[in-house]
Amino acid sequence: MAVHQFDGVIVGAGGAGLMAALQASKGAKIAVVSKLYPTRSHTGTAQGGIGAALGNLEKDSWEWHMFDTVKGSDYLADQDAVELMCREAVETVYELEHMGLPFSRTPEGKIAQRPFGGHTREFGKGPVRRACYAADRTGHMILQTLYQQCIKQGVTFFDEFHVVDLLISEGRTAGVVAVELATGELHTFHAKGVMFATGGSGRMFKITSNALTLTGDGMGILYRRGIPLQDMEFFQFHPTGIYKMGILITEAARGEGGILRNKAGERFMERYTPTLKDLAPRDMVSRAIHQEVLEGRGIDGKDFVHLDLTHLDADAIHKKLPDITDFVETYLGIDPTKQPIPVQPTAHYAMGGIPTDASARVVVDDKKTVMPGLYAAGECACVSVHGANRLGTNSLVDIIVFGRRGGKSLLEDVKRDPLPPLPADPEKQARERIARLMAEGGQRVSDIRTEMQARMTEKASVFRIAEGLTDVIGRLKQLRKRAESVRLTDRGKAYNAELMEAMELEYLLELAEATAAAALARQESRGAHYREDFPKRDDANWLKHSLVWRQPDGSPRLGTKPVTITRFEPKERKY
Ligand SMILES: Cc1cc2nc3c(=O)[nH]c(=O)nc-3n(C[C@H](O)[C@H](O)[C@H](O)COP(=O)(O)OP(=O)(O)OC[C@H]3O[C@@H](n4cnc5c(N)ncnc54)[C@H](O)[C@@H]3O)c2cc1C
Repeated sequence: MAVHQFDGVIVGAGGAGLMAALQASKGAKIAVVSKLYPTRSHTGTAQGGIGAALGNLEKDSWEWHMFDTVKGSDYLADQDAVELMCREAVETVYELEHMGLPFSRTPEGKIAQRPFGGHTREFGKGPVRRACYAADRTGHMILQTLYQQCIKQGVTFFDEFHVVDLLISEGRTAGVVAVELATGELHTFHAKGVMFATGGSGRMFKITSNALTLTGDGMGILYRRGIPLQDMEFFQFHPTGIYKMGILITEAARGEGGILRNKAGERFMERYTPTLKDLAPRDMVSRAIHQEVLEGRGIDGKDFVHLDLTHLDADAIHKKLPDITDFVETYLGIDPTKQPIPVQPTAHYAMGGIPTDASARVVVDDKKTVMPGLYAAGECACVSVHGANRLGTNSLVDIIVFGRRGGKSLLEDVKRDPLPPLPADPEKQARERIARLMAEGGQRVSDIRTEMQARMTEKASVFRIAEGLTDVIGRLKQLRKRAESVRLTDRGKAYNAELMEAMELEYLLELAEATAAAALARQESRGAHYREDFPKRDDANWLKHSLVWRQPDGSPRLGTKPVTITRFEPKERKY
């Protein structure tokens, strides 16, 4: 048995994991364990920008940022955490700049900023330029910068190690177990503190902007070990995915002046959100697109609309959105400065996830009880700063701010705490699980996955209704049964991607069921969660977070948790 000992282990090498590693490794022995080579993490695909009230082009303040975030969340975000995020966003962006991140610049040499959906000046008066960017490669630059800093600081990396289990002994976190992809061997990582920074779970849907690897592993692993998940019913659909492919066209395209049009060429967002128009929050724009389609105003009567950039200066578009123009040319064979882009909503971002406090410590109930030695940050975590709907550019802020905070708390704790003993036979569960999946079954992983994705997209996406959700829950239970006896054609140990996909499918199925169950329970419409049978927000009964625990048979049990409100009382959301 290969056992590695560290003070702290960070699972995931995206923006959140690397930022945490940088902080924690200032005073402790830290390993980053990642199923991907670090710079392949999804953070690297983030295009549009990172929101921080620097006020470089016009007056801005962190309080306006906080207000926008809370209002954007449909008042479900915890306001103490939002305040920390919006305040610390400013210093953290400067910290990135000082690490050498090559931001785009204003003529005077300051960090350039552009407008983004839901970000306003003076508490909603009009759009403000708050998104700091490096062309349309902001996430790529963040990832490269942080990775370089981690290497410089001597963080130990275990690349292409797929974590499959969390170890707990004497009520404390004791480490993780991972499969080394190159050999198929199990490795035990024994540590005082473990942080999960494993990213999103968009692959439970058919049309998604998410990479193939975003399979909710961290959430799934902890859920299987008795940790609850929070606000799973809130999944964001980004309004502008390339039609049928889901590949993202960043909101920065609208920030730079792009307009959504229906088949009559009408700028329909003027009717839905007259002040912010195309730059309204994503939940509203996605619903508006669906509404246009339902009422027969999709392009050619189909289920998509046009994103029009043809009226904008072609040179500026090529300079400010080089990757986007490239994608559109590659995947659609059109020049977006001459022809409109066909777009439809695409599953994009998990607002819910592993519940944490503002120091990224995992909390296991509605009373803020901390699980010793366990941390989570980034998209897999739910602090909650995004509530029922995240604003664009606020995820990059979240991963950087809470990755940093989490790295600091991990460091503080591991300096004080003793190393817990390893549980007896730490790899037992992982070994048995792999043996079960490798046993001769009859089901194909890809069949089960395709069906799950289709059902979730049909019945649990932008519009939801009790009947559809009940149906999808029933289907998912059946799929979960089928997934117990899969047949893997790859019998080898080295790079057995099929085995890894079977494990990822187990997480996705349980997370999808948790999502649908929480969506069925929430009898109201709030943020990204829209119930046709309960179209209004219901603060009297539902101004609360949901929690979901996994029962021994794999099905979810639901609970709730209060929302923290400090400065902004819930109001009707108008834009
Ligand atoms: C196309 C696209 C564009 C986006 N644009 C923006 C934007 O402009 N602004 C913005 O704010 N947000 C944007 N987002 C959202 C944002 O990029 C993500 O939410 C954020 O980067 C997530 O970072 P993370 O560190 O939590 O996880 P990721 O960057 O997803 O990293 C996850 C890490 O976990 C590791 N991992 C996962 N499972 C395992 C396992 N079982 N074992 C070991 N390692 C594991 C992976 O190897 C990876 O290193 C965008 C998202 C997408 C998909």
